[in-house]
Amino acid sequence: MKCSKCEKKAVYYRKFEGQWLCKNHFSKIVEQRARKTIRTNSLIEHNDRIAVGISGGKDSLTMLYFLNKITKRRKDISLFAILIDEGIDGYREHGRKTAIDYCEKLGVTLAIASFEQEYGLPLDKIIKIGKKTDKAVKACTYCGVFRRKLLNDTARELGATKLAIGHNLDDEAQAIMANNIRGDLMRSARLGAKALVIEDERLIPRIKPLRDIPEKEVALFTMINSIPADFAECPYAEESFRWSVRDMINTMEEKYPGTKYSIVRTFDNLLPTIKEKYTGGKIGACKRCKEPTSNDLCKSCILREKLGIL
Ligand SMILES: [Zn+2]
Ligand SMILES: [Zn+2]
Repeated sequence: MKCSKCEKKAVYYRKFEGQWLCKNHFSKIVEQRARKTIRTNSLIEHNDRIAVGISGGKDSLTMLYFLNKITKRRKDISLFAILIDEGIDGYREHGRKTAIDYCEKLGVTLAIASFEQEYGLPLDKIIKIGKKTDKAVKACTYCGVFRRKLLNDTARELGATKLAIGHNLDDEAQAIMANNIRGDLMRSARLGAKALVIEDERLIPRIKPLRDIPEKEVALFTMINSIPADFAECPYAEESFRWSVRDMINTMEEKYPGTKYSIVRTFDNLLPTIKEKYTGGKIGACKRCKEPTSNDLCKSCILREKLGIL
């Protein structure tokens, strides 16, 4: 098949638009879409100092490539990367090395923060203790809460004004649908291209430049542009509620191309209303660590107390 825009051989079929694309046009269109996400949501502003959260996986390194490309000529904007070492034996070791080398190649400063340093234990040990203390808490909960906090803390310490997260269209559509099914609109209020529940100088606004790019397209973009990335699956990933949601959305997308975009666009239209209803309450400080929270203790401190690693 030929590219719908030129004479070259097509490498990709954009089903929901009925478009065949060659390598060049595919890359161009993906970049254009990410630029549009940035522009329409004002993800990057004058004098921003952007922290890019990277793992070594395809989404985060592609985001780094892209953000570096569009900001490197901007004198008022600076960029650096943060790598979180969760401490999962045998996982992401290759990815970490890839991430370190890639930052060096791009000339992007990299800060590394580890669970072990911050919390005293690597994730492997945290999960082991967690299994004994509370079986109901999943590995992803510990990882998610601790990683989110460590990313925010590190970004803030290094003077970031924005924290870029490599969530793609699939991630966002899954999060939206999962919250809808659970009836958790409070959590949905924290989604969006620029995610910030409440203006608070302790919380760095999270931006998602790849939020309108389907996961499949991110993966192809990574390969076409020779971005080194680790494609390993987390050993703790298990059949979960989130996976059922993912399968459901993928089945719908297959039958009705455009489903993922439609889920996210509809949500974006509702987001101002959701935010109005579910945010705005007073945000205080955690009694123990002084981090912002609307409860007595923040999530991280609640988990640490349960684990006995305070
Ligand atoms: Zn073409
Ligand atoms: Zn706390």
